Amino acid sequence: MSSIVDQIKDRVDIVDLISSYLKLQKSGINYKARCPFHNEKSASFFVSPERQIWHCFGCQAGGDVFGFVKQIEGVEFADALRTLAARAGIELHRQSPEYQQYQTARTKLYEICGLATRFFEKQLRESDAGKKVLAYLRDRGLADESIKNFRLGYAPDSWSALGDFLERNYESKDIFDAGLSVKKDGGGTSSAGGYGRSQHYDRFRSRIMFPIFDLNGQVVGFAGRVFGDLAKNAEAAKYVNTPQTAIYDKSRILYGLDKAKLDIRRKNKCLVVEGNMDVIMSHQAGAANVVASSGTALTDGHLKIIKRYTDNLDLCFDADSAGTLATDRGVDLALARGFNVGIVAIEPPVGEPSEPELKDPADYVKKYGPKWSEYSQNSRPFLEFYFETAKKTLDITTALGKKLLAQKLLPFLASMVNKVEQAHWVGEIALALKLKDDILFQEIAAAKPKGLEVQDEEPNQVKQPKENFDVFEEGLLALIMKKPDLVLDIRPEDEEFLSGRLAALVKDIGLSLNETRESPDSQSESRILDFSERNRDKKMMAQLTSAAGPESAMDLEFVYLKSQELWKDIEDDELAGEFKKILCQMKRRKVLARLEDLEFDIKSAEKSRNKELLATLTAEFSKVSKQLTQ
Ligand SMILES: [Zn+2]
Repeated sequence: MSSIVDQIKDRVDIVDLISSYLKLQKSGINYKARCPFHNEKSASFFVSPERQIWHCFGCQAGGDVFGFVKQIEGVEFADALRTLAARAGIELHRQSPEYQQYQTARTKLYEICGLATRFFEKQLRESDAGKKVLAYLRDRGLADESIKNFRLGYAPDSWSALGDFLERNYESKDIFDAGLSVKKDGGGTSSAGGYGRSQHYDRFRSRIMFPIFDLNGQVVGFAGRVFGDLAKNAEAAKYVNTPQTAIYDKSRILYGLDKAKLDIRRKNKCLVVEGNMDVIMSHQAGAANVVASSGTALTDGHLKIIKRYTDNLDLCFDADSAGTLATDRGVDLALARGFNVGIVAIEPPVGEPSEPELKDPADYVKKYGPKWSEYSQNSRPFLEFYFETAKKTLDITTALGKKLLAQKLLPFLASMVNKVEQAHWVGEIALALKLKDDILFQEIAAAKPKGLEVQDEEPNQVKQPKENFDVFEEGLLALIMKKPDLVLDIRPEDEEFLSGRLAALVKDIGLSLNETRESPDSQSESRILDFSERNRDKKMMAQLTSAAGPESAMDLEFVYLKSQELWKDIEDDELAGEFKKILCQMKRRKVLARLEDLEFDIKSAEKSRNKELLATLTAEFSKVSKQLTQ
């Protein structure tokens, strides 16, 4: 039986996998995209369906399906294995040694969250209180399909119902680690009901439960909205969220992204709203590119994730919160990340009367239904929005009004990455304030960027294989892979200029070429044909990677990908020319190094007045330097 890893590699296609994260573009037999692991304008990230690998020519990251999941999700191998196994439909059995090997504490947390989700769903459908919640949700405008899709549930009004249920299979410590229970504090608080069997009680009680999914649609945490009698208790928090756990990091999880990512890519635009209900209702209305930051303001971590899918970010503010500090900071961060930022303001559709109860997307969808789908896509550039709002609230004919407006808008202009856009807005604002552009530009220069330097993660996950080929070796090998006959151009006297590793690989290719040529029976004729088409490449790669060993096999894959991309549509004689050129450069490099050594030896021979040695060295020097002109 093949290993789980091999089974997964057989079943998960790398192009499918990567397309679920990035927009891939066909490029000959490969696919390309802008690299998700470094900032770049043109695409140097390539995916090879043939070899089932990916590689970025820019930042040198690369690998197979496992490497990709590890890097893009920022997880370790065990988690990548779990993600990919789920994708491949392979069950990691509890009994199998592999399962045990890879089952990490995190895996357990995923299981617990999954089980809790089912528990809450069942409570929603089957308990009396749950049925009231269901009626309430329907009354808010939620369709049953949305409730099912987003797996909404109900946490009963009990201190231990969930804990009792989960403890049949899991330790109370694990349940606590999943964020589902709270440690009983030494009995300081009032006699708040029974605590259940353990030293913990349920975190979520009498709440409508919104499971929070990661990018793969697995539940990692919950947001619970108060419901029922508890809602009347002024001390009860309206929302309770899962705290930070090993699988839930609220600064990196966007609510709804697992369901929105495809549409974000399709529309090349992402709309961030405030609440979970806003997300669900938006999706229900057909606006599927909508996400929310759950239980926190928009962070740079969120923006980095959105940036993998699009450069266009719209924010939807509640009427109340427009222009508040939290949203300002979101705009600021987004500008610093180079997003085109737009604002979707909630207003009734054209021709409809004004509506004081219309505050957020959920209200909008409840009232106007699918109209949201179109409305939500028509954002206004954020500065236009801010500018209009400020003009309405400030008297810009006064010096104070001018100063306040400038104070509000100029810091945004200062963090604008696009200078053309900046100049446009300087013009607009100068006109409105009846000031000269120059003065505003001076102000912008003086306006301190708000300390929002975008910090890019260390490329620490980009592992440089120890034995990377150097640039000449790589070039030469790439050419040979494209046109194996080129090895025949290597003269015996050139061989000393190749590194040992390259010489061995070249020899292997030469041997198989000769073998094919020297056996002119009918069988090998078909082998010659094979060797000239894609099968040839497959054979060659199989041979080379096994000869190179696991350490440098991936290096060879990268070189092969480069050979396909770099030498696409190049004529044979041009390839031969390039080959010669690189060979010459390698030779030159080696000769120059030798000359440098000799120069040093000559100097020390001069110092020690060793005439005999000096003569030998000088002769050697002139002999070696002649190689430069050969
Ligand atoms: Zn890259």
